[in-house]
Amino acid sequence: MTTDAVVELADVHRSYPGGVAAVRGVSLRIRAGELVAVVGPSGSGKSTLLHLAGTLDRPTAGTVRVDGRDVSALRDRELAELRADRIGFVFQQFHLTRGVAALSLVADGLLYAGTPARRRRERAARVLERVGLGHRLGHRPHELSGGERQRVAIARAVVGDPALVLADEPTGNLDSASGAEVMALLRELNAEGTTVVVITHDRELADGLPRRVRMRDGLVVSDEGGRRPVLEAR
Ligand code: ADP
Repeated sequence: MTTDAVVELADVHRSYPGGVAAVRGVSLRIRAGELVAVVGPSGSGKSTLLHLAGTLDRPTAGTVRVDGRDVSALRDRELAELRADRIGFVFQQFHLTRGVAALSLVADGLLYAGTPARRRRERAARVLERVGLGHRLGHRPHELSGGERQRVAIARAVVGDPALVLADEPTGNLDSASGAEVMALLRELNAEGTTVVVITHDRELADGLPRRVRMRDGLVVSDEGGRRPVLEAR
């Protein structure tokens, strides 16, 4: 195994009770510094794959490694620490707690890391400035536009300086201008060294990214543009 893989899935399966096989044997290696689009029809297993790669879900079979560590060997607590330390998530629906100001929402992204409260707020303010929301620190989600909400969510995802950001349709609820801003931000993060994986329905957006992984019926059916051949034999 190469050591530059941030996440590696080896023959991973995920079935749900009732017999739905959402992911049916996927092998995929995401290397440090990559910017990857995951595309495919609705129901093809993209979200399930992202949850598995982010250790939010455990495979029914196969192996998931983060930083070379087999996550099945980790206790829940170790896994939560690994996730807090290494991975940031961005979702289509933003998942921002109602009534909480942007600064607190982002600062709370550091709770798990044990950062003191004052430093949490300082870092949150810096990251919010970084995403262009320095003038919205006290605004609560309902006082922000969709694009601004997603930028808060991105700030929360990256406040702990994760190696990997996993984004599930981050532009799916946004108008095209706000979506373009969110994508530009993800590209900037990637240019600064963060590995980014983005699920998208937007063909044009996907075509603009360096690597494109296409799923269908729980399988990876193509994997284009990576630096080296990355599709393992199943
Ligand atoms: P996509 O993100 O490509 O739309 P998903 O990964 O969300 O696909 O879903 C893949 C398949 O797994 C779908 O058939 C979906 O209905 C099924 N599925 C997803 N989550 C669950 C669940 N919690 N329980 C049962 N089936 C699920």
